[in-house]
Amino acid sequence: MFDIDLTSAAMEVKRLKARIVALQVPEGLKKRSYQFASELENKAGAEVLVVAEPCFGACDVPSSLFDMVDAIVQIGHSPIPSLKFPKPLIFVPARSKVPLADQLKKSVGMIQEPVGVLATSQHLTELDEVIEGLESMGLKVRVGEGDSRISHAGEVLGCNYTAAMSVSKEVNSYLLIGSGTFHALGVHLATGKKVVVLDPNLEEPREIDQIKDKILRQRHAVIERAEKARVFGIVVGEKVGQRRLRRARELRRLVRWKKKDAALILMDKFEPEKLKYLGFDAYVSTACPRIAIDDVALFEKPLLTPQELEILLGVRKWENYTFDQMTEDEL
Ligand code: SF4
Repeated sequence: MFDIDLTSAAMEVKRLKARIVALQVPEGLKKRSYQFASELENKAGAEVLVVAEPCFGACDVPSSLFDMVDAIVQIGHSPIPSLKFPKPLIFVPARSKVPLADQLKKSVGMIQEPVGVLATSQHLTELDEVIEGLESMGLKVRVGEGDSRISHAGEVLGCNYTAAMSVSKEVNSYLLIGSGTFHALGVHLATGKKVVVLDPNLEEPREIDQIKDKILRQRHAVIERAEKARVFGIVVGEKVGQRRLRRARELRRLVRWKKKDAALILMDKFEPEKLKYLGFDAYVSTACPRIAIDDVALFEKPLLTPQELEILLGVRKWENYTFDQMTEDEL
């Protein structure tokens, strides 16, 4: 489904004179790791170490790699410009081979112009084709610039919707290219506007009403389960792109102000088992915002996002529920 061209990455490895290179492959492409590793070794003349740990984004680089390798090649994600790493990171885009023209035509009756066009990192290469398609049908299109965590106009991350928010006053709906519904729901909650998804894995464009109701019900239930909690564990991610110590401290102050207590917890790889034995009544994640939502069923104790903690403590209304975001001023 994706074309991966390692030629430019190999040239960059050569230019850097890197001798040992770590290769991070996203989960959906992991089965092709051998193919990528041998191609990179042949073209770049460097030794390649395939990283078996999952890699969910440009933020997701294990700290241990920086002592072991000269450079890191990451497939399928785009850079987060505001992040600085101790070793060079080389990004290889994944180009989807699935044509979207049919879905695009079907989506026209579902959107209201002006329409904001967005794509997840894995589908940025289809953005221009969709914009041209809409414009050729006479529709008014807007593409928003994000903050400095965003490398490409129109790009959304699961932790950052600033490219959508920057044009929210100018558009009546959004068209988002991406698989799944997480990003679309995040955009909808951040802007209040309708979002239609062009998912290359599907044949029809889709709206997110059903999944929205399901996820909001789940999140409401998690907040209710945490209501009796007296002591919260506030988790800070160790990964360079997910370290929000300042945000975690603010949340701890808020908890104490509300006459409960909290401690800060440091965690690299987020695993339910690690939290199980720590003995807190409930947890709050300031690391990747997707963890609390996507892995809801895996955590024995309630795991809240920062905004959900604010709702629980009465400083935010449920009507103002949004997904958590990591913006440029937080990291
Ligand atoms: S924090 Fe999560 S959503 Fe944001 S880039 Fe990293 S993996 Fe993706």
